[in-house]
Amino acid sequence: MSVDSLTAAPPFKSRYGNYIGGKWVAPVEGHYLTNTSPVDGRVLCEVPASTAADVELALDAAHKAKAAWGHMAPADRALILLKAADIMEKNLDLLARAETWDNGKPIRETLTADIPLAIDHFRYFAGCIRAQEGTLSEIDATTIAYHFHEPLGVVAQIIPWNFPLLMGSWKLAPALVAGNCVVMKPAESTPASMLVLMELIGDLFPPGTLNIVNGLGRDVGAALSNSDRIAKIAFTGSTPTGKMIAHAAAEHLIPATLELGGKSPNIFFADIMDKDDDYLDKAIEGFTMFALNQGQICSCPSRALVHESIYEKFMERALPRIKAIRQGNPLDPNTMMGAQNSHGHQEKILSYIDIGKGEGAQLLTGGGRPDLGGDLNNGCYVQPTVFKGNNKMRIFQEEIFGPVLAVTTFKTEEEALAIANDTPFGLGSGVWSRDANTCYRMGRGLEAGRVWINCYHVYPAHAAFGGYKKSGIGRETHKMVLECYQQTKNMLVSYSEKKRGFF
Ligand code: NAD
Repeated sequence: MSVDSLTAAPPFKSRYGNYIGGKWVAPVEGHYLTNTSPVDGRVLCEVPASTAADVELALDAAHKAKAAWGHMAPADRALILLKAADIMEKNLDLLARAETWDNGKPIRETLTADIPLAIDHFRYFAGCIRAQEGTLSEIDATTIAYHFHEPLGVVAQIIPWNFPLLMGSWKLAPALVAGNCVVMKPAESTPASMLVLMELIGDLFPPGTLNIVNGLGRDVGAALSNSDRIAKIAFTGSTPTGKMIAHAAAEHLIPATLELGGKSPNIFFADIMDKDDDYLDKAIEGFTMFALNQGQICSCPSRALVHESIYEKFMERALPRIKAIRQGNPLDPNTMMGAQNSHGHQEKILSYIDIGKGEGAQLLTGGGRPDLGGDLNNGCYVQPTVFKGNNKMRIFQEEIFGPVLAVTTFKTEEEALAIANDTPFGLGSGVWSRDANTCYRMGRGLEAGRVWINCYHVYPAHAAFGGYKKSGIGRETHKMVLECYQQTKNMLVSYSEKKRGFF
């Protein structure tokens, strides 16, 4: 880091407007939300408490911009994304600090994962659009069907608070490069890092192409998702809100992409302990991955299934690794686990820990708030917590979205699959074995959109991500997402002068 993140002040203005039509615009009704940091409770900035009137202004701007942006040569749109990526890279420190203050996640994650992955999304989709080709079908000797990809027009995007800039980039990059104009609503508890990004890259885009409206879900989110002026809605968030978005999309007959919750299994076969080597060390790290981003990841491996023959030996190795996770100030580059995103969320996680105890699960480590001293005790911290229990318990079935791991054992591959798939969700999953055939069979049997084999929490731009079952509809990342932001125009051309003869 070129700046000492621990001593630098939070990089925000005291008050922001909405970013609409290439300008910073005060909210129509003049109300603001106070944005506090989960790091230590301090006030970071004020952002608009927007209403439907602000959403209309953003939609006006987007509709005004859509013809020119949609007709711009794909290579020119791609160039703008590449410039945005370069600016983000030059400002990596700034964006990482903004994200850490806003969200509470450790700076070492924002610096090395969140922001670099966000940058890569802009670059990846800039390349994809140039490589995308239309198709031509020869219907007969004188008739040709051409297929063109055309943008949808104005699209709405609603993002959550757990990866504001990365989830934002997952949505913005494919939508914009495909020629759509965007109205995006960040989550109310992390409204600010996206605004820092807009200060850096907003003016690269023609005014109105990219608009950000902040405010509450029930105001801005509801107005945006219920608007008849959007051609698509892309949403990442909880399953209950996702259902409301799907209803609104059905009402207006528009497509909805939904990235929702999860309760992902991480499965450890006996052969991982055949040798004490780097692979075993990697598998143990894979077990601790439930604590990444304080467990606030939709694909968090929140259920671990460990083969019963290695359970005791494996836990003897794994539990000390969890106890050694360094919690502290997220701005400290040595901190491994930072703050939960809000006090409300911290309370929800702690209440699930009580539920686990109440339903008879065995608490193996953690189970409360850490005492980090000083101002950090005003922040929102929870210890990494591990329970042993069974898959019928609520802590195995319900998404906690925190650093709480529920562990159980299995005897056979069939039993592991049955436990793993016994959930309404189907987002992530992990399989750890030295045997490629075991991994393959498990990978095909798991009901999940992403199966990590001998790794976990890897999110490259060119691998499709999304849910089975109640975890969502559609995919994000990978070039296939471009088609979620496009419609197909078929132009059927006759080069013959011969009439058909019906009339
Ligand atoms: P949430 O559904 O409460 O909020 C998500 C977004 O929706 C926020 O911007 C919020 O303001 C907005 N919103 C809330 N009510 C709305 C309404 N009535 N109409 C329109 N928009 C509304 O979810 P959250 O608590 O912020 O996020 C955590 C959830 O997101 C978890 O369940 C997690 O699994 C899920 N998530 C999924 C993925 C994925 O890719 N599948 C990624 C990250 C988070």
